[in-house]
Amino acid sequence: MQNTPKIFPIRVRSGNITCSKHKMAVKRRKSTKGKSSRKTTKTGRKALITGITGQDGSYMAELLLDKGYEVAGIVRKTSHFLYANIGHIQHRLNLIYADLLDPVSLTSALKAVMPDEVYNFASQSAPSESFKQPVHTAEITAIGAHRVLDAVREICPKAKFYQASSSEMFGWVTEIPQSEKTAFNPANPYAAAKLYAHNIARIYRKSYDMFICCGILFNHESPRRGLGFVTQKVAYAAACSKLGIRTSDHLNEEGEPIVKHGKVALGNLEAKRDWGYAGDCVEAAYQMMQQKKPDDYVIGTGKTHTIAELCKESFGYVGLNWKKYVKIDPRFIRPTETGPLVADYSKAKRVFGWAPKVNFKELVAMLVDANLARLK
Ligand code: NDP
Repeated sequence: MQNTPKIFPIRVRSGNITCSKHKMAVKRRKSTKGKSSRKTTKTGRKALITGITGQDGSYMAELLLDKGYEVAGIVRKTSHFLYANIGHIQHRLNLIYADLLDPVSLTSALKAVMPDEVYNFASQSAPSESFKQPVHTAEITAIGAHRVLDAVREICPKAKFYQASSSEMFGWVTEIPQSEKTAFNPANPYAAAKLYAHNIARIYRKSYDMFICCGILFNHESPRRGLGFVTQKVAYAAACSKLGIRTSDHLNEEGEPIVKHGKVALGNLEAKRDWGYAGDCVEAAYQMMQQKKPDDYVIGTGKTHTIAELCKESFGYVGLNWKKYVKIDPRFIRPTETGPLVADYSKAKRVFGWAPKVNFKELVAMLVDANLARLK
């Protein structure tokens, strides 16, 4: 589980970002026991991660550092710095300013790193938000992925490439559960954008003989997931209710407190999802990139739960009855619903022995505990 991240002020030197308290942080690290401070053997391999500040990118960075990779990541230039998910490993990373909207910045980043492996996690990653910002979503999630792919083809075509595809591409599902052979039928702008990126990745794999894997990932969560996602919202609300917080500091996507007058506002409580743990999922992404041949793999738990079940489990974890703390708000109901999305991950299990380690109950406990810690 995530430690409380340490955020250090950073300064920019010739395009790269380094931590001004690097030495202090390294010293502190040496005296800290724990997973991410354990000794690693350098492999001489280099990886570049897009979306490194996000949930998956940060877990992948940790995993690759532990495996002895040199890890670089691209970060967007913003008017403020808040790398909450990578603060604790920032001094071990080579962070480079680049943006999926800007192909020049991507080629520069690739030239600076010349990676052996590229993991493309950057995205406008919220399906519900994609109804509000459909063109922006396409620009980053579809064309942005294409830009990264094309920059890799130009600068380092021998590098292996991972594309973060999504179960949302199955959309209005044509079969249950969904495998690599299931037809895609996107039901929101995010899914359409992901499908474009997925298809272009497959086209590049065949046309240019590039090593490209697409991980078709079902929903996966962690304490590092943004608070706008329903799992986090519910876990946060359960923690607030437990602590007697009736109006929260953190805001939802409508700019209102996530918990207002003691209640959290949610959309369709009957929507079903296959929720896994992000740490398990990045392990799968890494494993598929280590196979002899590039391929596409479905990654999920194979089990579904409704939002109502998520509420019951989360509030139940802190001894509360969810029905007192949840209200339906039509603004959070998607114009179209997907699913039921449920993964058939038998190919990943057969080819590289992957199976999820964290179950639904454990995941919910992890999220609620992290939110209790955040609020205390
Ligand atoms: P997050 O939303 O946590 O992270 C998204 C990342 O993309 C952030 O680092 C963000 O940077 C970066 N980003 C956004 N726009 C740009 C841009 N224009 N240029 C450069 N970077 C940008 O997503 P997750 O970690 O949860 O997901 C990782 C990937 O997996 C995404 O592509 C997502 O769509 C996909 N996926 C996720 C699933 C899930 O359940 N989590 C399921 C299936 C697929 P910044 O910090 O600057 O905003």
